[in-house]
Amino acid sequence: MKDILAQDFQNMVQELLIRNRSLLDTLTKFQDSGSRVNRALIKAATHCGCIRIEASKQEYPIDKDVESIHETLDTHVRGKLCTHCRNIIEQELGTHLFYLTSICNTLDMSLYDVILREQERMNTLGKFCMR
Ligand SMILES: [Zn+2]
Repeated sequence: MKDILAQDFQNMVQELLIRNRSLLDTLTKFQDSGSRVNRALIKAATHCGCIRIEASKQEYPIDKDVESIHETLDTHVRGKLCTHCRNIIEQELGTHLFYLTSICNTLDMSLYDVILREQERMNTLGKFCMR
């Protein structure tokens, strides 16, 4: 079922991508759409104000194990996205996913296989992948 959803999405991207078929164009669109995700997130904080970003140096406790470090690290996000900002960010993430999928199409790769391989790496390394 999940592989069908990913394959359907990948097929739609293949059909709808017309103007930016070149890998170079797709790569620049992918980078641009990533910037738009960042811009939408920042505007949620600076224009709307539904969230605040209170960043500071992360303190990594050396006396805790990997499992409990997760609890002490901060996202630096305060508040909740309003419906308007959430919709815009979802739209920008969708566009970013479109161009990621287009890169997969150009290189004859399966989006579902990419997701599965990453999931396998995460399962193997667990919390030690340290991302
Ligand atoms: Zn907002």
